[in-house]
Amino acid sequence: MIVQTDAVVLHAMKYGDTSKIVTLYTRKYGKLKVIAKGVRSAKNKVGAALEPMTIASVVFYKKQNRELSLLSKCEIAIPLKHLFAVEEKMAAGLALIELLSMTMHDEHEDEPLFSSVVETLCAIDGSETNTMNVFIAFIIRFIHHLGLSLTLDACVHCGREMGETTGGARFQLTEGTVVCSSCASTSALSGMPLSLGGLKSMHYLGRTPLGRSTGLTLSVQVRDEVLEVLQTFMRYHMAGMRPLRSLAMLSR
Ligand SMILES: [Zn+2]
Repeated sequence: MIVQTDAVVLHAMKYGDTSKIVTLYTRKYGKLKVIAKGVRSAKNKVGAALEPMTIASVVFYKKQNRELSLLSKCEIAIPLKHLFAVEEKMAAGLALIELLSMTMHDEHEDEPLFSSVVETLCAIDGSETNTMNVFIAFIIRFIHHLGLSLTLDACVHCGREMGETTGGARFQLTEGTVVCSSCASTSALSGMPLSLGGLKSMHYLGRTPLGRSTGLTLSVQVRDEVLEVLQTFMRYHMAGMRPLRSLAMLSR
């Protein structure tokens, strides 16, 4: 069966003298692997469209029950002009595809998620500042999309709105809820420490359109705290999730 779909390139590795095996996250078939024959020769034009993070239009020959499909066409669908040139954009984009590589199952179609991934890559590419906010906002949407909940607006114990509290909170990994500082100190409620700034940032970024998420400036400490809390939450609930290595590129 000849198939045409959109795809985001997750990973490519050399195969034999001239070919590559490429992992794609596709609109119609979710994650799958294709073999791209002859793409490493100098004359081949497909090679440039096989770099990780590329948003491409692909055609491949798909056989039932075969692990590898044969790629016949791959063209850049949406050019990302700045993603590869700016370190923070690169870190955010690579972290996004690393997250998908680790957590997506093979050939599980998820059109809304695919659209969200493309939107995120474009927003990262087009961001002027605070690029990592786009990735944080994606993670929060991703968590909700997978059916996990994050309830950050009020203390799960006393019901007080977190916006009215001073002091930090405790984030509970099991439920994705928060406990205010006074409840945490008077009862034996545990959880990851989360600063009020971190909590408010997560709450804001979960509700703001991706393209506008960069309007908020986070300190490096808050940014790293939020990334750590969200990653720890995902590791707690999702099989196969490891710390995102791409984030190590971020300048501190
Ligand atoms: Zn409370």
